[in-house]
Amino acid sequence: MQTHQYDAVIVGAGGAGLMAALYASRGVKVAVISKLYPTRSHTGAAQGGIGAALGNLEEDHPEWHAFDTVKGGDYLSDQDAALRLAEEAVSAVIELEHLGLPFDRTPDGRISQRRFGGHTSGFGGQPVRRACHAADRTGHMILQTLYQQCIKNDVMFFDEYHVIDLIRTANGVAGVVAVNIDDGELHVFHSKAVLFATGGWGRVWEITSNALTLTGDGTALTYRRGVPMQDMEFFQFHPTGLYPMGILITEAVRGEGGVLLNDRGERFMERYAPSIKDLASRDVVARAIYLEVREGRGIKGKRYVHLDVTPETVNRYLAEAGESRRITAEYVEEKLPDILDFTRTYLGVDPVKEPMPVQPTAHYGMGGIPTDLEGRVIMDAQRTPLPGLYAAGECACVSVHGANRLGTNSLTDLIVFGRAAGKHMVEYCANTGLESLPDDAGHEAEAGLEHIRQSSGSRKPYQIRSEMQQVMMDHVSVFRTAEGIQDALDKVRTLKDQWQNDLSIDDRGKRFNSDLLEAWELGCMLDIAEVTAVSALAREESRGAHSREDFPKRDDEKWMVHTLAYPTNDGGVRLNHDKKVDMTLAEKDPRFKPKERVY
Ligand SMILES: Cc1cc2nc3c(=O)[nH]c(=O)nc-3n(C[C@H](O)[C@H](O)[C@H](O)COP(=O)(O)OP(=O)(O)OC[C@H]3O[C@@H](n4cnc5c(N)ncnc54)[C@H](O)[C@@H]3O)c2cc1C
Repeated sequence: MQTHQYDAVIVGAGGAGLMAALYASRGVKVAVISKLYPTRSHTGAAQGGIGAALGNLEEDHPEWHAFDTVKGGDYLSDQDAALRLAEEAVSAVIELEHLGLPFDRTPDGRISQRRFGGHTSGFGGQPVRRACHAADRTGHMILQTLYQQCIKNDVMFFDEYHVIDLIRTANGVAGVVAVNIDDGELHVFHSKAVLFATGGWGRVWEITSNALTLTGDGTALTYRRGVPMQDMEFFQFHPTGLYPMGILITEAVRGEGGVLLNDRGERFMERYAPSIKDLASRDVVARAIYLEVREGRGIKGKRYVHLDVTPETVNRYLAEAGESRRITAEYVEEKLPDILDFTRTYLGVDPVKEPMPVQPTAHYGMGGIPTDLEGRVIMDAQRTPLPGLYAAGECACVSVHGANRLGTNSLTDLIVFGRAAGKHMVEYCANTGLESLPDDAGHEAEAGLEHIRQSSGSRKPYQIRSEMQQVMMDHVSVFRTAEGIQDALDKVRTLKDQWQNDLSIDDRGKRFNSDLLEAWELGCMLDIAEVTAVSALAREESRGAHSREDFPKRDDEKWMVHTLAYPTNDGGVRLNHDKKVDMTLAEKDPRFKPKERVY
């Protein structure tokens, strides 16, 4: 086992990890460890844009952005976090521009902005153009820009190293353990500070917009080391995944004027969100599509509806709304090139000429590793930090997105809170010595991996994975009931037991053993599925993405609290609901107080 020493170790090279690394590298020696080559991280798939109230095309303000974030989050967002996000978004986007990010431009040279779901002017008024974008490749541009800046700053990259454990000490942390995917050797990374930026876990569900690698590793492995998972019952289903595989069709399609239509050709969002229609927040639109399908108005009776961005349809609705703007096929080609490419390639459907088939797709984890505004991981309802441990990006929960994230706020979250965490790590490292490595550092992780390598049970990882994905899709997705969630939980626990005691993999080798590492990732997904189901069962209300058919109302009396889930010694999950939602803005301005969400 090789040992390396750095001040700060960052696990994950997506937007959050790279932004944190860039800032940390300005003060300390940094290593970034990533199971994927950095520019293959899933941030590269982000299409629609990054939200910031620049006001380049029409009036906009950070306070309006904060308001939309809090309302979009169904009032579970911590309001101090929403304010920090909205205020710092402006400087963060301008910083990205100065670092070299090629944003689309307005004719007079400013960063171009477009509409997105739930973005409004004047505290809930009309749709506003807030999404800054580089065509529909914004995330890709963020990754390329930040990676080049990190290289320039001498950040050390360990590409294709898979982190499998966090080394905890009595006081805090002392590093991580990783496998070099190429030769299977274990490496210990000894450091003063560790930041997890390992992304989401959409692969827990059957239909998802997420890549194969989004298996929640960082969130699960810190949990196994006693760090809680926060608000895991809130998992977002994006309304428009391409039917039947779930590949994402960005909300920017609707931002550019695209409309959702049912089998009767009705623009059904007029019934569910009369004022903002197709640009209502994601939970609202995903539920509307589910209900249309359930009531038999899916296209040809199937489980999808149409998303129509053909110039003919868009221009008809723009004219009806009294807007002077009109679009052409060339405009759609220029603004949504990747979307057209996906749809033509995967389905043979040309969105400039015909509607796209879409269905809700598992997309984004609003919960995760709890942190404070500086990216420090916190351990309890009193917000006590664990010294030296940080998290940022989708694996973390600050909690800015509350019960439902607004489109474009994830990229903003990565940049704003990745930056805050990077800065804080420098401060922390300057005032702290290296903790000694425990004598047995890495041994438990090694034994765990060997257990999987030598397994000779009757169940293959792909069988367990697909049964987990199916049951989570059936019972812990857009709509939920106690009975369904309990069924899912029982099944996930059975699968977890099989994973531990009755697994077998085919490849027992060392080099590029994806069979072994995928089996290890499956263990993470099972932990996440279990915590999600336990948290969802306990929350007896409907809020944002958590829609309980047996408790259809939001219950602010009882549930304006976050869920903290801890592992117990007997392999179960213990919940704590003492952490109250931060109400900083509502204390000063009644417009931020919880009220019914109408769009
Ligand atoms: C298709 C799609 C489109 C989207 N569009 C938008 C959008 O337009 N606007 C917006 O705001 N949001 C969007 N999102 C959401 C947003 O892109 C993601 O939430 C965000 O990019 C996550 O970034 P991250 O840095 O947290 O993680 P990621 O970019 O997912 O990176 C995770 C990193 O962690 C590493 N990693 C994971 N596990 C391990 C391990 N065990 N060991 C070592 N390394 C590990 C990976 O290699 C990777 O480098 C979209 C998401 C999807 C799926």
